[in-house]
Amino acid sequence: MNVVVQYGAYPFVLVLGIALHVLLLENHFGVHVATYLPVIVGAVMVAGLEWTYPYRQQWWADTQEMAQDAIFMALIQGVVPKLVAVSVMFILSQVLHAHDLIVEGWWPTHWPVPLQMLLMMVVADGLRYWLHRWAHEWELLWRFHAVHHAPQKLYWLNVGRFHPIDKGLQVLLDTLPFLLLGVGEDVLAFYVVCYAINGFFQHCNIDVRLGILNYVISGPELHRWHHSMIKQESNHNYGNNLIIWDLLFGTWYLPSERMVQELGLVNRRYPSAFLQQMTVPFVSGADKQTVES
Ligand SMILES: [Zn+2]
Repeated sequence: MNVVVQYGAYPFVLVLGIALHVLLLENHFGVHVATYLPVIVGAVMVAGLEWTYPYRQQWWADTQEMAQDAIFMALIQGVVPKLVAVSVMFILSQVLHAHDLIVEGWWPTHWPVPLQMLLMMVVADGLRYWLHRWAHEWELLWRFHAVHHAPQKLYWLNVGRFHPIDKGLQVLLDTLPFLLLGVGEDVLAFYVVCYAINGFFQHCNIDVRLGILNYVISGPELHRWHHSMIKQESNHNYGNNLIIWDLLFGTWYLPSERMVQELGLVNRRYPSAFLQQMTVPFVSGADKQTVES
């Protein structure tokens, strides 16, 4: 892979997404179009890079897996719910403002939008860091989070594989508090663009490098270790967008001398079908059973 593409792909796609977002807003396309379009462009670019420069051939999803992921992820758990969630977030924001349910004075609404977005990202990532860490360390939360760790390969489409209970807890921490604090729609929209594009990259099967940014951003090189089958490796790099909280709390992990090996859960027969994944967290130890029951 060309070194310019290797190091340039992530910043290029992210900056392009942000530029498109700003351009659409300035041309009065409305906040929804200005948010969704850059996210879709980002997804297409990440998928294209994956196709051209795969990190690992074994992580290619076969046609059947891809079809299953496309149906489950796009229609049931992935793109559509994300778009719905964004719409609900915008509507809720308007309702809270209209009914004076906002906690006034706590959020620096007078700051420039990019600065407010950065503040939101740092705080949201701090909250998400502890939720994610507890999801790995507390058995009950882990049962639901294990669904996200079930895939044995990583590629951009499986970024949305979360159990609804796990996903619900995440939204409770990284969206609701900011709505109640009165964070503006423009800040939320900017956050969603960055969050979504980083999410696609985090799970991608592209041989992309972040270099020094691996100390700031929770990108694919760090996140692959988080999906390792070995618990001592996977209980690291909990960061959602940023990796700063992992650096602060001692869970940053990026071995330079070797590559991650097997991904997924110890139970290699953990169900992968959508309906089974909805109910399997209610079975104790399902992620660990190595023999078929
Ligand atoms: Zn995790």
